[in-house]
Amino acid sequence: MIQIALQQMSIIAQPRLTPEQVKALEHATGLAGARLALALLPQARQLSLAPVSNFAVGAIAMADSGYWYLGANLEFAGLALHYSVHAEQSAIGHAALHNEQHIQAVVVSASPCGHCRQFMQELNQPVTITLPEAEHALSELLPYAFGPADLGIDGGMLSPEPGTLHHASDDTLLKAALQQANLSYAPYSHNRAGVALQLADGRIITGRYLENAAFNPGLGPMQLALSQLQLQGGQPEHITRAVLVESAAGISQYPGAAQLLAASSAVTLEHVS
Ligand SMILES: [Zn+2]
Repeated sequence: MIQIALQQMSIIAQPRLTPEQVKALEHATGLAGARLALALLPQARQLSLAPVSNFAVGAIAMADSGYWYLGANLEFAGLALHYSVHAEQSAIGHAALHNEQHIQAVVVSASPCGHCRQFMQELNQPVTITLPEAEHALSELLPYAFGPADLGIDGGMLSPEPGTLHHASDDTLLKAALQQANLSYAPYSHNRAGVALQLADGRIITGRYLENAAFNPGLGPMQLALSQLQLQGGQPEHITRAVLVESAAGISQYPGAAQLLAASSAVTLEHVS
């Protein structure tokens, strides 16, 4: 039923659904809200690239705006496991790149791991986790949580203070990375960072840094950009240029981002700090 409706609407493998498309799918399938999202999870799982675990995970972030953002896990053969992007991170990062301010629910095909629970805590807003068999508030899945409030941060991952980085350049790709750096979330390190990838077909794919109070579950700008590349049906070999813009801080995204890019692309990462 879902498959037929998606085919009729020509939205097979489309990683973001508009409110109108969600309504049309609800009408076509008789499924509403989270039940429809659960039925769409196989679409998200199909976007997974998991050469290490062969364990495909799909997630959908349902934003207040009515848009639904698909995400899927992404693993990197030949690199340390900590570079992996989890499906929940992929979906939430996807919503962040569209400047969503609030996510109502994250629908996911398997119970979120501790890493993802901590990542979602950084939203600093109530969020429902919908699984095939049950629905929980994040606060139920992560009681006694440590989060932004413990470090004196009021806002969350989706509502960062805009940055003020400037660069006198009319290089379109550099400007795209700079814009992402200014929209990034780095309240602990102040290491604003954004990535822009130029593809051979003219498209520009971006990523931004989403930091975490517990540090390790944060998502690097290159991780998010490569997750976007995967969701948008691109391949690393389609990348013709890559730029990282970051603010000078006590930490840097550059070594990790360069290593991550080098694992799948011959393009050298340009670095503007
Ligand atoms: Zn996870």
